Amino acid sequence: MTDLFDQQHLWHPYTSMTQPLPTFKVKRAYGATIELADGRCLIDGMSSWWCAIHGYNHPELNQAVTDQLQQMSHIMFGGLTHDPAIELGKLLLQITPPSLDKIFYADSGSVAVEVALKMAVQYWTAQGQPQKTNFITPRSGYHGDTWNAMSVCDPVTGMHQIFGSSLPNRLFVQAPQTRFDEDWNPDDIADLEQALAQHQHTLAALILEPIVQGAGGMRFYHPEYLRQAKRLCEQYGLLLIFDEIATGFGRTGKLFAWEHAGVEPDIMCIGKGLTGGYMTLSATLTSKQVADTISQGEAGVFMHGPTFMANPLACAVALKSTQVLLAQDWQAKIQQIEQQLKQALTPLAQLSHVQDVRVLGAIGVVELTTPVDMQSLQQQFVQRGIWVRPFGKLVYVMPPYVISADELHYLLTQLTEVVRQMQENAA
Ligand SMILES: *Cc1c(COP(=O)(O)O)cnc(C)c1O
Repeated sequence: MTDLFDQQHLWHPYTSMTQPLPTFKVKRAYGATIELADGRCLIDGMSSWWCAIHGYNHPELNQAVTDQLQQMSHIMFGGLTHDPAIELGKLLLQITPPSLDKIFYADSGSVAVEVALKMAVQYWTAQGQPQKTNFITPRSGYHGDTWNAMSVCDPVTGMHQIFGSSLPNRLFVQAPQTRFDEDWNPDDIADLEQALAQHQHTLAALILEPIVQGAGGMRFYHPEYLRQAKRLCEQYGLLLIFDEIATGFGRTGKLFAWEHAGVEPDIMCIGKGLTGGYMTLSATLTSKQVADTISQGEAGVFMHGPTFMANPLACAVALKSTQVLLAQDWQAKIQQIEQQLKQALTPLAQLSHVQDVRVLGAIGVVELTTPVDMQSLQQQFVQRGIWVRPFGKLVYVMPPYVISADELHYLLTQLTEVVRQMQENAA
């Protein structure tokens, strides 16, 4: 199955070039189905890492790309502008926190995070506080793979050991402990409060993923943590950055996760599901106050400008994807997925090799007691006609919203059988 050229020459995510895990060649994908080159069809449980919210080969999204292609696929954004960027911007301002008013388009989630961090530093420099350059963040976070995004990822599960002193030193506090649906434990904010009291003068911003910590552990935490974090940022003079790159566009049951808490950030990053998984695009949004301050600083401008900024193809398909999402009863759809996930996955919590089962919106997580054998598990899933890619101790799904009840039932039946068998094999 593995392609020889691919195996010998193409680097895959987080993969060895001497001992790469097998890859499966994909011929096409449509709806919630991934068709392999050998003809086998897999039901998709991953949405290509949170992106493909409407599934694959969506007729309206295809049309939006084709239409834009006839006009221009790209044009520089320095000194020029275009309708796809403008219309997407208008729509984004309608659906993101009301206080956010300015949009910086970038080309990937990691770059959106870099942009957010740079905005925060330029903001404080413009305020005459050039010593406020560092960042504070809860552990178990994930914010991307570029240099500074990496520096605010969890220092243990992240890549800190490998990159050592080449990474800037950030301030880490305990990850939120109170679960999403538990009673709030006020002690949960103590570590952040202490750290802020001590280090406020050097800190530009607190950056976190609201409600769902994604690739850093798939953890769901209590909305009160965000309300307390906001209060502390105001008290100690920090900007608050929400990384909604994974949580955006309905995934957690709200359009964006900040809505669970009603807390607005000063800066917000979006990406992944933004284009419905068609191409890479991200955006960093901020308030008029932050943007004005940056613009009145010594530099007079915000110092960033990617080559492919506001790529018209990407903006056109992002506009259509967001319209398609908003035009349907997406809340009902996510609720239905959530119910099916709960029904199928909750019984697994009884198994001795399962540490925890949790579901929020269209995200279902089975946390095992020990790390999984990814290669073996991946193979079993594919043999059973589903696409699920575990990592660490986590077997998790976040299917495209177009998945039918029957397809989801199939996906979850196969997944739970594999998880149950792991116990038998271990016994
Ligand atoms: C995926 C992700 C990123 C990085 O996005 P890329 O497009 O992979 O650079 C940043 N933050 C969060 C929360 C993510 O899930």
